[in-house]
Amino acid sequence: MNYDVVKPSYSFPEKPFPLKEKEKKACITEIKTLLKEKDAVLISHYYTDPEIQALAESTGGFVGDSLEMAKFGNSHSASTLVITGVRFMGESAKILTPEKRVLMPRLDAECSLDLSCPADKFSKFCDAYPNHTVVVYANTSAAVKARADWVVTSSVALEIIEYLDSKSERIIWGPDRHLGSYITNKTGIEMILWQGECVVHDEFSIDALRKMKLFYPDAAVLVHPESPMSVLEFADVVGSTSQLIKAAKELPQNQMIVATDKGILFKMQQLVPEKELISALTPGPGATCRSCAHCPWMAINSLKGIEEALLDGQENEIFIDEKLRVKSLIPLNRMLNFAEKLTEKYSSTSGF
Ligand code: SF4
Repeated sequence: MNYDVVKPSYSFPEKPFPLKEKEKKACITEIKTLLKEKDAVLISHYYTDPEIQALAESTGGFVGDSLEMAKFGNSHSASTLVITGVRFMGESAKILTPEKRVLMPRLDAECSLDLSCPADKFSKFCDAYPNHTVVVYANTSAAVKARADWVVTSSVALEIIEYLDSKSERIIWGPDRHLGSYITNKTGIEMILWQGECVVHDEFSIDALRKMKLFYPDAAVLVHPESPMSVLEFADVVGSTSQLIKAAKELPQNQMIVATDKGILFKMQQLVPEKELISALTPGPGATCRSCAHCPWMAINSLKGIEEALLDGQENEIFIDEKLRVKSLIPLNRMLNFAEKLTEKYSSTSGF
């Protein structure tokens, strides 16, 4: 059965005004003091600006993908978590650790996948398929998670779908249609797909990659599975952010064309300083370059925003209705427990 691609209407937020070097230094010093004073820890996604990632690392915080961020926040002793990323990441932290204060520099840091999947419409969609297991990507609201049986991230999506299939479960997948198609293509497991997409990854094109390969014929092509199938088929490696970083280290090639948000290049380059990393292009014939390979909502996280959140926090705190939280915790915990077992299984090879 075919469905229309969900194209929600939204506009991108304006990026914060860049700080001058002197202001930046003062802001970083203030954040460091406030983190200590407020018993807070900074947890950042790979797609945030390099200076934010560097600050998270230098203050004993963390940089990772959404699954790793959730796990770190859950296990850290700080009473306040400052999450830099997009809102569903702050919500996931609050769902998992309700006793902690969860702050974000901007609560309007959306995600196009989340916006493409309103809870009421998605719930109706699921109602049309009784006896199906509902699996949703972490890039969704707490209300959509609460409607689901499982939450997944791209780092464990494939394994969880294979596991459910082994139990003969029929599956509804939402909201990323490209990741859903990739899993079906890879495993042969048919799923009912919600038709959302990520504004960043949907823009990578096979034409642009082919042209880049003419300039860099020996480069390996690394692609995130939220991209269109033609792009995935062109890749040497398809994987989540953490899996792509690992691949950059393990692959023998000295040049990598990287088709995901360019924020990832900071951590990747730290790991492979000797290699040349080239961000895949999104402009070109027929392309819009709306995001130009950087998530417009990740881009509104700023040093000033972190400082303001720590100073006041009134406008920056995540709250979730307790009933909704308890409901959305169930599928989230299923994923975390599954991921834990998977890690144990592959711990000798670090295959996770
Ligand atoms: Fe959402 Fe795409 Fe931005 Fe990630 S990069 S937060 S999936 S819009």
